[in-house]
Amino acid sequence: MSEPLLYRSTRGGRHAARIDDVIAAGLAPDGGLYVPEALPRLDPADFDAHGSLADTAVTLLRPFFAGNVLSDALPEICREALNFEVPLRPLRHRRGAMMLELFHGPSAAFKDVGARFLAACFRRLRPAGSTPLTILVATSGDTGAAVAAAFHRQPGVRVVILYPDGRVSPRQAHQLGCFGDNVHALRVAGSFDDCQRMVKSALNDEVLQAQVPLSSANSISLGRLLPQMSYYAHSALGWWHHHRTPLSFIVPTGNLGNALACVWVREMGLPIGEIHLACNANMTLCDYFEGDPYSPRPAIPTLANAMDVGAPSNFERLRWTFPHDADLRAELHASSVGDERIVETIVRHAKNHDELFCPHTATAMHVLDGLPDDHAPWAVVATAHPAKFESVLEPLLGFPLEVPPALAAMLEPRATAEPLVAEDELLKGWLRGRVTA
Ligand SMILES: *Cc1c(COP(=O)(O)O)cnc(C)c1O
Repeated sequence: MSEPLLYRSTRGGRHAARIDDVIAAGLAPDGGLYVPEALPRLDPADFDAHGSLADTAVTLLRPFFAGNVLSDALPEICREALNFEVPLRPLRHRRGAMMLELFHGPSAAFKDVGARFLAACFRRLRPAGSTPLTILVATSGDTGAAVAAAFHRQPGVRVVILYPDGRVSPRQAHQLGCFGDNVHALRVAGSFDDCQRMVKSALNDEVLQAQVPLSSANSISLGRLLPQMSYYAHSALGWWHHHRTPLSFIVPTGNLGNALACVWVREMGLPIGEIHLACNANMTLCDYFEGDPYSPRPAIPTLANAMDVGAPSNFERLRWTFPHDADLRAELHASSVGDERIVETIVRHAKNHDELFCPHTATAMHVLDGLPDDHAPWAVVATAHPAKFESVLEPLLGFPLEVPPALAAMLEPRATAEPLVAEDELLKGWLRGRVTA
């Protein structure tokens, strides 16, 4: 058996953990984020040039799972989780520019990749018959739907989703409340920050944990970050195979989970060129890359609501990857794209090129349109299907959006969510009351 890769917290580093514990725990005990002791190195020649996305994922992730109980199941986990297309297709308006579409999973956003991988790992780590586990998720929209879809009807697991009542799109709210069975949606009379605080308070309550075992499926979990690396590796290797040039990416960015996956793939030695972060009006990352000291701040609401983040949690992992500011600033570019430009980009592309983008993808498209024509071959990363954001797009375009079949099926059943006041103790009471439900 090969030498196991161990993991440490970004904040401490004394305690080394195995990948199965890292995936089960989500957050490190000291509140930091887990990182591998060192990033493995790979070569394009290590990969099957004609392999599927799941084949690429197995080769890419094998060193992260080396010597672990999950290692033998990795090929099956990858096939289960990555069972939908992640196409890299040419854009109509610009020669040589591509779009990497990450929205063909069950909930129509890229978060399906991480959530499905996490669920596939949990199925092995907590087989039917073990103590039931409650997975708590605070969501501003897309995470909750992806996690609910991934864990729906999984034995031994119940999912409890908290979302801010009235602050997610009607279609997003429907996606959260439509599952039933082992998935419970709570609409909280408060903000996303209230939801997050309530979840953290429950997770940190040892007395409650002893009665009701809890875990989270937060975006800081390595079990979500690692599988996201596979679509960057797969598309970049496919491009390399045909063109022998590295592919560059423009990534819509909020908490930095998606973009960090791209950075790590490049650090592992695969042919990725430039990486450009497209942010909304939340300026924390752009200001840092302009040369200001890193200073997290409260989030402001924008049309690209899944990127409304003022304190990107994965920045800690980026710092671990490049400990010196000067090195880090040399590795990435960042731009801020405000609501007016998001609107302008959506309308212009719909009118001139008959292409529709969700508000998040529109930030990246705006960045592409500002880059010189002869610059590197670029892939814009499309993080969600436009039909998920009908409440933004339809008033701008003046026509109803076509809904893809998977999303339509999800919107079919009636949705229900229980109301909850934004108090930590009320959530704990709710969790205790439903211990056997
Ligand atoms: C979550 C999300 C993002 C932001 O991704 P991060 O990993 O948080 O940077 C962008 N677009 C969509 C549609 C999302 O759901």
